[in-house]
Amino acid sequence: MSRIIDGKAISALERQRIKSQTESFINESGIVPGLAVIIVGEDPASKVYVKNKHKGCLDMGFVSKIYELPENTEERELLNLIDALNLDNEIHGILVQLPLPKHLDEKKVIARINPEKDVDAFHTQNVGKIVLGEYDFLPCTPAGIMVLLRESGVTIEGKECVIIGRSNIVGKPMALLMLHANATVTICHSKSVNLPEITRRADILIVAVGKEKFVKADMVKEGAVVIDVGMNRDGNGKLCGDVDFEEVLKVASAITPVPGGVGPMTITMLLQNTLTAAKKFALQKNNLFYRRKTQKRRKNY
Ligand code: NAP
Repeated sequence: MSRIIDGKAISALERQRIKSQTESFINESGIVPGLAVIIVGEDPASKVYVKNKHKGCLDMGFVSKIYELPENTEERELLNLIDALNLDNEIHGILVQLPLPKHLDEKKVIARINPEKDVDAFHTQNVGKIVLGEYDFLPCTPAGIMVLLRESGVTIEGKECVIIGRSNIVGKPMALLMLHANATVTICHSKSVNLPEITRRADILIVAVGKEKFVKADMVKEGAVVIDVGMNRDGNGKLCGDVDFEEVLKVASAITPVPGGVGPMTITMLLQNTLTAAKKFALQKNNLFYRRKTQKRRKNY
């Protein structure tokens, strides 16, 4: 019988931990962590994500600023806003909600964000740090999956991990994190040959394809841990994953549901990254009170 990994419960515990760290940080530094989210256009799914991010920030006691720009915003206007936020000492994290309308160059926009405020960890400087294993921030979805695995007691070291999907926001960083955790990692994509043969080798199978019920039971090894990143809408508009949950439940030792698996962790990791950015800001601004406190704490360990 398979165990269901409860992303909602794990996320709630993580948020409690972040909230209590935030309270201590505010007391010690006088700085309130601040996140700015920029959304361009009217994409309904993006609007829901942004609303949830805003709510998450307010629950943590963060400053939360949402910038809603019209669909026809010129690139120059968007870049000017990012420049202003880069200089704003009340804002420690900046997130541009993707996808952007087609006339805006995503790469150029992300490159404009100060890497120290890049809480999505999409800036090339942060991606490079992740490759080297010396990061400040991790992309939120892969980071959330690492927490889910840790909190579910899944051993990663020495295990065969297969990831389906090689996107810059999920598949590639996920592979790096599993590699840093000493798994043997295989990344599959749409040109992979004999996919089921490869996925059946996995002790840990992570699926980020974006296709409803793509992974069937015959693609999964008995006893594997299966992480479903997919967020798709079925014919009835109901949220569903990339894994055929009912089928795979019968062979996996543990599995994340959709909804209630990976999804809740993503915003939680964004909150963690915003707090981390604010702490870095406090140290860099030579906030002496905060510096003294953290040094004293270190001595006590
Ligand atoms: P993406 O950029 O569209 O990437 C999909 C990947 O799947 C690509 O690498 C593609 O291969 C691969 N693929 C497509 N068809 C395949 C096939 N038949 N066999 C093997 N591989 C195949 O998607 P993404 O941004 O990574 O997102 C993936 C899913 O996760 C989506 O449902 C998205 O909504 C969801 N998501 C959820 C969260 C969350 O918080 N829960 C966060 C981010 C994304 P090629 O590279 O060869 O095209």
